[in-house]
Amino acid sequence: MYQATSTELLSSADANGDLAICFDEEVGVGVVALVNFAKGDLLDRFTGTTGSELTQHSLQISPGEHISDTRFVGYVSHGCNPNCRLDMQRQELLALRDIAADELLTIDYAATEDRLFTNFSCSCDAENCRGWIVGRLDLHKLPQDGSNDAAHRS
Ligand SMILES: [Zn+2]
Repeated sequence: MYQATSTELLSSADANGDLAICFDEEVGVGVVALVNFAKGDLLDRFTGTTGSELTQHSLQISPGEHISDTRFVGYVSHGCNPNCRLDMQRQELLALRDIAADELLTIDYAATEDRLFTNFSCSCDAENCRGWIVGRLDLHKLPQDGSNDAAHRS
């Protein structure tokens, strides 16, 4: 049965009124678009504190270098078929496809992170959902037969 997800905004919108931190019943804390974006649009240009520490909400700039205390990007949810991507050199969040107002933003965590602070199971409903989400250096450890979900929970 389809069940609507209620998304509650946790922060006031940013200066442009384009993005907000929210709490979604399915994915927890995330970032939601408040306006429509077109494929290729710049959603956010981010800054933060860089250091060697990997944390729950940090993002990897380069091996051993992580940025934290970003306003939004550290809270963007993972999706295996995401609607956004990060350019870590330019420190930009970009739309991979058209995004409607009220849509949750997603990025593929393995696109930027060598290793995750915590590996986790994913049920994002994408056809290519990997089931178990790890950093890119650990991707080769996943089984190739699509049985990630069950095989890696133990
Ligand atoms: Zn997934």
